[in-house]
Amino acid sequence: MAQPAGVKTSADFPVPGAMKAWVLGGPGELTLKQKPVPAPKRAEVLVRIDAVAICATDLDVIDNGPPALIQGGLPFNKNFTPGHEYMGTVVALGPGVDEYKIGQRVTVEIHAGCGQCKRCRQGMYTSCLNYGLNYGDVDKGHRANGFTTDGGFCEYQVNNINTLVAISDEMSDEEATLVVTAGTGMYALTELGGLVAGESVCVTGPGPIGLLTVAVAKALGAQPVILTGTRDNRLAIGRKLGADAVINIRKTPDVVAEVKKANGGKGVDYVVECSAAAGAVNDAVHMVNRGGKVCLAAFAHEEVAVDVAHIARNNIYLYGIRGEGRSATHRAEAFMRQKRFDATLIHTHTFALDDLPEALRYAKERVDDAIKVVVKAKPGAAQKAAAE
Ligand SMILES: [Zn+2]
Ligand SMILES: [Zn+2]
Repeated sequence: MAQPAGVKTSADFPVPGAMKAWVLGGPGELTLKQKPVPAPKRAEVLVRIDAVAICATDLDVIDNGPPALIQGGLPFNKNFTPGHEYMGTVVALGPGVDEYKIGQRVTVEIHAGCGQCKRCRQGMYTSCLNYGLNYGDVDKGHRANGFTTDGGFCEYQVNNINTLVAISDEMSDEEATLVVTAGTGMYALTELGGLVAGESVCVTGPGPIGLLTVAVAKALGAQPVILTGTRDNRLAIGRKLGADAVINIRKTPDVVAEVKKANGGKGVDYVVECSAAAGAVNDAVHMVNRGGKVCLAAFAHEEVAVDVAHIARNNIYLYGIRGEGRSATHRAEAFMRQKRFDATLIHTHTFALDDLPEALRYAKERVDDAIKVVVKAKPGAAQKAAAE
């Protein structure tokens, strides 16, 4: 790493000049290359990446491009490194940084908003109005690592201190990569949704976000928590994470009626739609009770028809969610630190960083029932070595 004035390092955590980094060529083309280790600027630290989880959104970015936005366009052939759900160890501090110390283990949020626009000032930095305007002549300080700036499928990355979440020493590297996933469920239900204890929640789609949203809902005191999906093995994990009822939609002719029945016939206060299935949004607006709220957490690939008259007549709220605003990840980490739920139930596989293409295949084709696949630069390294 080139060491500009004011950047602090430590002999205990030497930082090399170059690192391994996966680089996206054309769609689906990843190559392992050498890149210079970036240096942290003001309000930034350098994180040595100890583990990174693969997200369905990474698969979208690598194969199709969006929602990554590099230099205002598709991310292909721009020397871009994807990957965003990572954790690691702070190894260098930018000028003036004293909020974190070298050697500290952290997990990261994806979005550092510009800090200046209306949404950032409201804490909605994942909806920053300057999203992607951080390259070229327009430096607004915005970063979304793995989307608009280089991400985590490499050995080191710079992060704004606002994106760091200190983690418990007892939390494994793998579990720490799941904090941001749980943070999304937290943001959906509390800050955006306004859930209070005792309200009812249905989660549709037992992917990683759906399963950890079940866990967060239960930990927040929701009652009942209902999970719908198509795979019995995933629904069984949902039960372990706190679902009071699970419904396999393949075995149920009328899933809307079944969800209503599971909550006394009137429908639930919240549906968090995590499936992206065709018809799921319309089902969701019929699953909530009058005045209920539907959170859309899945990136559906097609436009869908929705019964708008039903939404209007019944005062139903419909809101999208992008990521994990208002520091929801910190509250999710607090739940995990207290062992209110075991997020590691959704971690299924670990691969070496060099084997990223195989790890991506496991995630994409759900080989061996893969749910969360994690990649580590040093698999098997003592997870707490950095904490001592
Ligand atoms: Zn993700
Ligand atoms: Zn902003």
